[in-house]
Amino acid sequence: MMKLNGIAASSGVAIAKAYCLVAPDLTVVKQQITDVDAEQAKLDAALAVTTEELKAIQQMTEENLGAEEAAIFGAHLLVVNDPELIAPMKQKIADEKVNAAFALQEVSSMFVTMFESMDNDYMNERAADIKDVSKRILAHILGVKIPNPSAINERVIVVANDLTPSDTAQLNRDFVLGFTTDIGGRTSHSAIMARSLEIPAVVGTKEATQTIEDGMMVIVDGLSGDVLVNPDDETIAHYEQKAKAFSAQQKEWAKLVNEPSVSADGHHVELAANIGTPEDLESVVRNGGEGVGLYRTEFLYMGRDALPTEDEQFTAYRAVLEGMSGKPVVVRTLDIGGDKKLPYLPLAEELNPFLGHRAIRLCLERTDIFRTQLRALLRASTYGNLKIMFPMIATLQEFREAKALLEEEKANLLAEGVQVAEQIEVGIMVEIPSTAVMADTFAKEVDFFSIGTNDLIQYTMAADRMNEQVSYLYQPYNPAILRLIKMVIDAAHKEGKWAGMCGEMAGDEFAVPLLLGLGLDEFSMSATSILKTRALLQSLNKVELEELAVRALDEATADDVLAIVQQYVAK
Ligand code: PEP
Ligand code: MG
Repeated sequence: MMKLNGIAASSGVAIAKAYCLVAPDLTVVKQQITDVDAEQAKLDAALAVTTEELKAIQQMTEENLGAEEAAIFGAHLLVVNDPELIAPMKQKIADEKVNAAFALQEVSSMFVTMFESMDNDYMNERAADIKDVSKRILAHILGVKIPNPSAINERVIVVANDLTPSDTAQLNRDFVLGFTTDIGGRTSHSAIMARSLEIPAVVGTKEATQTIEDGMMVIVDGLSGDVLVNPDDETIAHYEQKAKAFSAQQKEWAKLVNEPSVSADGHHVELAANIGTPEDLESVVRNGGEGVGLYRTEFLYMGRDALPTEDEQFTAYRAVLEGMSGKPVVVRTLDIGGDKKLPYLPLAEELNPFLGHRAIRLCLERTDIFRTQLRALLRASTYGNLKIMFPMIATLQEFREAKALLEEEKANLLAEGVQVAEQIEVGIMVEIPSTAVMADTFAKEVDFFSIGTNDLIQYTMAADRMNEQVSYLYQPYNPAILRLIKMVIDAAHKEGKWAGMCGEMAGDEFAVPLLLGLGLDEFSMSATSILKTRALLQSLNKVELEELAVRALDEATADDVLAIVQQYVAK
């Protein structure tokens, strides 16, 4: 048995066989060959297996995820059987006496480069198909495995170096019991997705993929951050017990589903949920969410091969608004870039993508994409209590520009005779230090703030949220962070506006007392944290915590702050 330790990213305990989601080494070396027939036969054999494999994946994807998601594999099957692509490969083997892998790589790259350079979406998509399929054929020639998360059809624990948001979106909730990754921190998107999928996860173990092989028995303890590999029977029994105790605890919390979110001394706050897709709503309702404090709409743009249309977006936004039956729903406009990429929207390679051309910066340039989203949101606004929020706002100018585009689209829709809700609050994420510092000025123009501590901490501490080497600097209790938060809350209140928080800090058991003391109005978190936080809230005294928060702001270090909170909670 072996034990790894990482960051407990999503609570619960999962026990199952490992499924390693690791990108294979597809390095190709040019070789001179003598037996042309044998080399061409190698290519034919790889094409045949690839065809069978794609058919199986297509069928499984259709069963697990639906026809739309499976359609991409139909396109891939056309590529494998395209004589215009395959014949030149065979020709190259014969003419130049080179190995099959090299011929495949040369010919496919030639087509990819050609199609990518065309100013035509259809041909750009074909380039992406050829790239994907060639990798698959190449893997068969080289005898290495290409993992396919959407085809998982037995209960497993996924082991990966990292899971991108689109990998995570493809995981089938019925089969993936938990996951563990080499890299990532509590606020990397793989961790956030794990919490919304309600599956236990441990991230940042540094060596999960080196240690764990396909089929090994694995225990993921998302409560402690431990991962046990090849556990003995006694250990398995111990963790089965722990899993049981955790579900018993969850049952206790479940009793609070219809209770108000109120402190021991009668102060009300709103406990809302962060969601990524309309499917997450079920969990929000089941966990007693009083609203949606953050709908990360970028997931609507992922796992597909073209931008979502205005109607597709309208359908999703309307579903969320209706699903929340008039409770507040804060929809964040597209926050793409950083670790969130779209295959069909090539962004320039950047040295520092988290500081780059992303989110509102991109939307203010690609106003075509932005306006489509704004129109869809405005059209959906009559179906519930919509609030619109712009991400990554660094200057007042950006907010004004974004708001002006919203107003323009509103006027356009009204002129077209389309109904739009009269009152739609428009707010911003406060996740860049400049905006926190200028909160008093912003508060005069925005309707609300939602503090995005995942990024606010990253940018204030200059510590990459994806990098476990610097995860010690993810310090929500650092007085520097608390002082910024206080500035934002006070600025909002001074102008009669509300301040919420949708970063992961809002659901942190030791941060909640401080945030209550600082006067935060809305706490938005993974749905699975809501009931636990409601239970905690009922034990807290707001008036006492106001005093504690003042003391915390004057402490010297994050550890000092944590110590005084823990002391308070323990008494
Ligand atoms: C944040 O930055 O705190 C936030 C909520 O946004 P995201 O995690 O999507 O960057
Ligand atoms: Mg953010």
